Amino acid sequence: MARASRLVKPASQELLHLQVQRTERLSEHWMRITLGGGDIARFVPLGYDQWFRIFLPLGGDEGLERIPAKANKIFGYLKYLRIPDGMRPVMRNYTVRAYRAATAESDAEIDVDFVLHGAGPDAGPASRWAHAAAPGDSVVLIDEGLGFNPERGVGNVLLAADETGLPAVAGICASLPADAVGTALIEVPSDADALEFPHPAGVTVRWIVREAGAKPGTPALEALRTTELRTPGLHAFLVGEQALPTGGRRVLVERGVERDAISFIGYWRADAASPAPRSHKAEEAGA
Ligand SMILES: Cc1cc2nc3c(=O)[nH]c(=O)nc-3n(C[C@H](O)[C@H](O)[C@H](O)COP(=O)(O)OP(=O)(O)OC[C@H]3O[C@@H](n4cnc5c(N)ncnc54)[C@H](O)[C@@H]3O)c2cc1C
Repeated sequence: MARASRLVKPASQELLHLQVQRTERLSEHWMRITLGGGDIARFVPLGYDQWFRIFLPLGGDEGLERIPAKANKIFGYLKYLRIPDGMRPVMRNYTVRAYRAATAESDAEIDVDFVLHGAGPDAGPASRWAHAAAPGDSVVLIDEGLGFNPERGVGNVLLAADETGLPAVAGICASLPADAVGTALIEVPSDADALEFPHPAGVTVRWIVREAGAKPGTPALEALRTTELRTPGLHAFLVGEQALPTGGRRVLVERGVERDAISFIGYWRADAASPAPRSHKAEEAGA
């Protein structure tokens, strides 16, 4: 099999200024933020697990106007760091949970599902922002493309994620062909956070509810040791707390899955904030 490239890059990575259209509390740990307006017509949907950098104006909207082009690349990022402390928007990584094209009645929209992992002063800024977001709030996005490269296979999949990867798994399932087969293992903090999503009939979705106190990603990693593998022809996609994709890849390789058939991205790290330099590394480590 020819080696498929690791990531699918978008055609354009310009800055897109958007506004919150509405918010919806889906469950204890989920907030859906619908974005649109502004530059939404320039957003190009790619399906699957399309992800983006989002800049959140925790220090006021003026900071959003000062984000340099290519703030997701090293030189642009250094310019972004020159925005004064307190005004500099927070940069984080999120996934397109759903895209709706413009119709005669309405403009296009993007749904983004934020895990609420805390709302107090010690919580992550993105989680805090999502808690408090309101219609009209401004953000800036840079499209980053796909981590699940469809060239690696769409007919036979194994998708494993903690809750942060649920939007990606749902997006992938929405893009797979109707006759795709496989398994999706999704770990969530509670029953109510297991948000159902449409998927091909041949893809079995297995929810794993994490016990209180368990380290995120550990139960899904355990499940990978015993889950049925339909090799050859399998394309595995592993995302979530860093130990799940890296440990999961090791487990799958030991079980005979080809390295080149595993897409994996560390989405976050327990007990460490998500500064941009590490997120660059996460991008590079991706599959
Ligand atoms: C390609 C990609 C796509 C992603 N898509 C999504 C998505 O669609 N939805 C989504 O919710 N997340 C997604 N994430 C994960 C998200 O970027 C991280 O969870 C991010 O760290 C949250 O930022 P924060 O400002 O809230 O917390 P940070 O400031 O980064 O971290 C503060 C503290 O919170 C902890 N923390 C961070 N995230 C979590 C969590 N989920 N649960 C428990 N503790 C946490 C950290 O360990 C740290 O101790 C994605 C990540 C990547 C790389």
